[in-house]
Amino acid sequence: MTTTNRQQFERAQQAIPGGVNSPVRAFGSVGGTPRFFVSGTGPYLTDVEGREYVDLVASWGPALLGHAHPEVVRAVQDAAARGLSFGASTPGETELAELVEARVSAGGRHPIGKLRLVSTGTEATMTAIRLARGYTGRDLLVKFAGHYHGHSDSLLAEAGSGLATLALPGSAGVPAAVAAQTLVLPYNDEAAVRAAFAEHGDRIAAIITEAAAANMGVVAPDPGFNRAIGSIAREHGALLILDEVLTGFRVGEAGWWGLEASGAVPGGEDWEPDLFAFGKVIGGGMPLAALGGRADVMDHLAPLGPVYQAGTLSGNPLAVAAGIATLRAADAGVYERVTSVANELSAAVSDALSAEGVAHVVQRAGTLFSFAFATESPRDYAAVRRQEAFRYPPFFHAMLSAGVNLPPSVFEAWFVTAAHDSAAVGRIVDAVPAAAKAAAA
Ligand code: PLP
Repeated sequence: MTTTNRQQFERAQQAIPGGVNSPVRAFGSVGGTPRFFVSGTGPYLTDVEGREYVDLVASWGPALLGHAHPEVVRAVQDAAARGLSFGASTPGETELAELVEARVSAGGRHPIGKLRLVSTGTEATMTAIRLARGYTGRDLLVKFAGHYHGHSDSLLAEAGSGLATLALPGSAGVPAAVAAQTLVLPYNDEAAVRAAFAEHGDRIAAIITEAAAANMGVVAPDPGFNRAIGSIAREHGALLILDEVLTGFRVGEAGWWGLEASGAVPGGEDWEPDLFAFGKVIGGGMPLAALGGRADVMDHLAPLGPVYQAGTLSGNPLAVAAGIATLRAADAGVYERVTSVANELSAAVSDALSAEGVAHVVQRAGTLFSFAFATESPRDYAAVRRQEAFRYPPFFHAMLSAGVNLPPSVFEAWFVTAAHDSAAVGRIVDAVPAAAKAAAA
């Protein structure tokens, strides 16, 4: 019996809301039938129709090493054979925490004193916010428009990712009283942050910011922006939560903060956030995320402190095994490869769009990139939304027909893996001219 993507989607829609377990997967903004995948190896995915695609989604980031990396798969299989979950501590959890604490260092700084493992990025940011509130005794939260930090109530105001794709200002079901605790400011606007603190400074618990925004397409912070908002927070007794769920261990060995602190990205030397959130690469494709940072703040978490957080599957042995294997394998060579593929692909797409006279800018943050159909590089969400987004669906579908799996929304980053070899890159580059023509139409 053959089964098609269309048959799978129709069946899924009967059993699952919208046929998907995460909204962007439904192809809402690009139209057409989502692909149902059955396997992935290296840079490739295979769908239920037996068709192979070069993948540029990489599970939305985690698959830094490519799909089914042998060392990661072996580590998970070995762990599974020893038992799936104990609901008690395991040595691997400490090993992973130590690995992250050692790895996130730069310029002589080691900003992660303690780390707590959770299962999703949503839990990591949600807990970081509760911790900041518990630590400061304050309620208000500052976030930036177009930044996505997961789907907890306080963070669904003017968020990126699926909310940007669906053009939703927020989510139904969030109590007005909760939404009122979140101040949403324009990104890269230090004056707006100063003004908010001038008015509400003694009530703000924390600023949360994506280390480099990548859920409204890629929008890097202006040089020195992260450091500046960190010092504004400190002046007012608030904390800075740096959300590295997407950037952490993907843009470099020590994440985006590591790039800033080491001077690889200018303007960010000599500062550190109070708390970090990690996810995606840290679990190598398994449900694992973490929050970490200043030990004096982290020790406010239960059981030492009064801020509650827990999880039946927190620190799950399979997820921890995948995380350790992934971080061990993610050496300097991995980041060099990912950087060079990102350079090659962004140049190829940009050249093809230019050849067709399509106005665009390449948006870049370390190894992350995306394209905005605009004449000037957008620095905030309002500018991102003004682009000619209608050009993306035809581009996307031309690439998909040629066997390239792109993010199904213009408001997402493109993710390459270290497994993208010259054959995989060549297949993408060959598909680009026709896609650029489709975008021009
Ligand atoms: N923070 C950022 C920056 C993200 O990109 C995401 C997910 O895309 C999250 C938090 C939420 O992570 P999760 O989807 O694992 O809950």
